[in-house]
Amino acid sequence: MPTHTKVSRIIREDMTPYTLSTDWETDAIVERRERYYAASQRAFVPYNTPLIFKRGQDQYLWDEKGNQYLDCLSQNLCVSIGYNNPAVTAAVQFQAEQIQHCTTMFFHPVPAHFAEELTRKFPEDEQWVVHFMNSGAEAIDFALLLARSHTRNNDVISLNNSYHGATFGAQSITGISNFRHNVSLLNGIQFTSNPDQYRGIHGPGVQPYLDDLDRTIYHGTSGQIAGMFIEPVQGYGGIVPLPDGYLCGAFERIRAAGGLCIVDEVQAGFGRTGEHYWSFARHDVVPDIVVLAKGIGNGYPLGAVVAKRHIAEAMADKFYFNTYGANPVSCSAGRAVLRVIDQCGLIDNARQVGAAMLNVLKKMALKHDIIGDVRGRGLMMAAELVKDKQTKEPAVEEMHRLFQLTRKHGLVASKSGAHKNVLRICPPLCVQMEDIPFFEQAIENSFAEL
Ligand code: PMP
Repeated sequence: MPTHTKVSRIIREDMTPYTLSTDWETDAIVERRERYYAASQRAFVPYNTPLIFKRGQDQYLWDEKGNQYLDCLSQNLCVSIGYNNPAVTAAVQFQAEQIQHCTTMFFHPVPAHFAEELTRKFPEDEQWVVHFMNSGAEAIDFALLLARSHTRNNDVISLNNSYHGATFGAQSITGISNFRHNVSLLNGIQFTSNPDQYRGIHGPGVQPYLDDLDRTIYHGTSGQIAGMFIEPVQGYGGIVPLPDGYLCGAFERIRAAGGLCIVDEVQAGFGRTGEHYWSFARHDVVPDIVVLAKGIGNGYPLGAVVAKRHIAEAMADKFYFNTYGANPVSCSAGRAVLRVIDQCGLIDNARQVGAAMLNVLKKMALKHDIIGDVRGRGLMMAAELVKDKQTKEPAVEEMHRLFQLTRKHGLVASKSGAHKNVLRICPPLCVQMEDIPFFEQAIENSFAEL
C-alpha cells in the first residue's frame, strides 16, 4: 500500500492557503464574528471594545496591534502552565504527526500513560481510575450520572453560588441564576448555604453552614442521597475558598446519607492554589470522585473524571462513549502539563508569586475603601468591590469600569462573582516575581483612575 495519498501530496506542494488565509484586520474580525457566530457564542464579551489576541508566550499576551499584556486570567484558567509552553508544543506536534485521533474503541498507549500519571497524583491508599472527556461540563455530567448509578440514589446537593458548567446537568447543579436558563433542568437537586466567610448568610464560621447541610438533607431529600458537588475554591462564584473544617464536616454528612463526595477541581486543581496538586488536599479529606478540566490540557480540549475504582465499576455494563474522549493529542498535552508542573516547581511558584500578588491587592485595600474583601489561595485570588463596607452592597458599575481600566494598564483579568463585582486574578502558574512590579503598577493605576 502507498504511504501517502494524492490529497496529502497536493497539500504539501502548496501549503500557502493553510498558513496565510486568516484576516487579522480588526474590523473584519469583528464583522465576521457578528455575522457568523450564533448569539449564544457572541454574547459573553466582558470588555466594552473587542480584545483580539494574536500571540501568547508564557504569562504574556499580545493583541493584533502588538500591545502586550500580563495575563491574569489564563483563558479562564485553561492555560495553566503558560502560552506556547515548549513542552506542550513539542508533545502536541509530535502526537499530531503520528495520529490525531484514536477513539477508545481502539487501543492507544498515550491516554493510558496519562491516566497512570494522573492517578499517581491522588492519595496512594486508594485505587483510582480515569474517564477522559472534552470539557468540564461534560465531566460534571458524567460524575453526576456515575454518582447516581453507583448509589442508586437520585438526590444531589450543591452549594449556593457554585458554577459547574453549561450543559443541562452542569447547569442543574450551578447555584447562580445568571448561569441557569429558564427551562426545565434536572430534578432531585438541592442547594445548601455556602460557607462564604465574607458574604455567607451566617457570617464567618463553619458550624452554622454544616447545620444547614443537615437541614437540606433532612428536609430537601429522601434522606438517601447520590452525592454532593463542591468546589474547594469557588471560581466563577468570585474566588470563594471553603473555610477549614467545612469539607470534612460535609463529607461526613454526605457519606452518612449514603452519598458520594464529588470535588470539582476544574478551576482550583493542578497546583493553582499553591499548596498541593488538588485544592481538596489542604482539607485532609479524600473525595470519591474528582472532576478535572481546563488547566489539565493547557488549552487543549480535555476533561477527566477521576474516581475510586469500585465506584466507577458501577458503569461497567452500560454504554457511555465520548467520541473524542481520550484524544491522544490532548492527552499528550496533559502529560506535558504534569511534567512541567513538577519539573519547574510550579506549585511552589504559585504559592510564592500568589502571595506577592495577594499582597498587592491587600495594600490596595488599605488605600481604597471600595475594596470590601481581598482573598485567595495561591494564584487564584480576588478583590471584591462594595459601595459600602457595612452593607456590602456590590459595586457593580465601579467594577465594570475598573475592569476596563485594568486592560488599559496592561492586565487581562476578569470580573466574576454572582454580582459581577469581584476582580478575579488567576495568572498562568509560570508568572514570575519579576512580574510583580508591573502588576502592582497596573493595579495601582487602575484604582487611582477609578
Ligand atoms: N466547573 C467549574 C468550577 C468551572 O469553572 C467550569 C468552567 N468555568 C466548569 C466546571 C465547566 O467547564 P467547561 O466550561 O469546560 O465545560
